[in-house]
Amino acid sequence: MEYHVGDKLICRVSSDELVIFDVDFNDRRYLHFKTKSFEVIGLHNKRFYILLVSAATDSAFELTDDTFNLYKIDRSHKGRYAYIIRENAVGGRQKIDFYRDARMCCVCKQYIPYAEPNQADGRFACWSCKTDERYKLIHNIK
Ligand SMILES: [Zn+2]
Repeated sequence: MEYHVGDKLICRVSSDELVIFDVDFNDRRYLHFKTKSFEVIGLHNKRFYILLVSAATDSAFELTDDTFNLYKIDRSHKGRYAYIIRENAVGGRQKIDFYRDARMCCVCKQYIPYAEPNQADGRFACWSCKTDERYKLIHNIK
């Protein structure tokens, strides 16, 4: 796995902003397409990533209770839509400005890109701490 949950991956999109998810990023036929970045919210098999997208399309699937259990996706995404993309369709990870875009997890103290407070008291807990049953009680996170 080259990328992780929380990364923003650079993808090619069609003129109506649909992700080109099944073609090599450097495929000549698509080099003139625009690029756009999308957040990874889950991992699927070895070289596939689940990306959060803004709208329902033919290739997107709705995030439901079944998909949360299957892919261990954060439940705060319920009702939104996602794509599964092959690693070779990704053009890399969007570079981040750490001071501007990252936030420290209140449990493991790691900085996570593009994080927002996700606890009732304004703290932020990263995905891996949030899904670890041991930490939920000790640190009172949800
Ligand atoms: Zn953490």
